Amino acid sequence: MSSPLADFRHIGTKIVCVARNYGKHVAEMGYVNPEKPVVFGKTLNTYLAEGEGELETPEGCELLHHEVELGLVIAKKGRWIKKEEAMDYIGGYTIVLDMTARDLQAKLREAQQPWYLSKSFDTSCAVGKFVDAKSVPDPHALDIYCKVNGELRQKASTSEMLFDIPTLLEYVTKYVSLERGDMVLTGTPDGVGSCLPGDVLDIGIEGHVTAQFTVGPKRH
Ligand code: MG
Repeated sequence: MSSPLADFRHIGTKIVCVARNYGKHVAEMGYVNPEKPVVFGKTLNTYLAEGEGELETPEGCELLHHEVELGLVIAKKGRWIKKEEAMDYIGGYTIVLDMTARDLQAKLREAQQPWYLSKSFDTSCAVGKFVDAKSVPDPHALDIYCKVNGELRQKASTSEMLFDIPTLLEYVTKYVSLERGDMVLTGTPDGVGSCLPGDVLDIGIEGHVTAQFTVGPKRH
């Protein structure tokens, strides 16, 4: 029987995202490693499940980037979660594309405006199928990857996270309640890059889940 959490997209209330959580990605973006987790949000309009449509390129974007990430699916409500108990709050995992309008993000940052439109456009949170936490003995020992048209662009172990999962949940829930079905994105490793209409993206967690998405035609 599949877990009721397999329908997390329709149960959760939010998507909490962590940026700059893999050192080599921080370096490729020209930043230094953060002292605390860098956290932002995506709204629920961003979800796209495999087979339910194509990835969009939003208005004004000429540089659509893929960011493959391990997604955590929250099992129960939590606030002020302690590191030692953090894993009890995780019901499962999936593989996620945090799609990013990189050029728009740079323009917004330059104008000291919020990231929202560059990170929270429709289809910018493309998710694979739910993987029950019971089948993942160590979420810090997973290999995640992203291929574009068969070419390997991103590959890393989740052991490389700068802030591990308990640290992230403790930090986030000092500010925000996590609810059952919520998604937490744990950051992308290095190798982010552009994708164009017609490109096929294959993502996965080795040995657990794969998903495939295609970039649709531009509307602008
Ligand atoms: Mg990301």
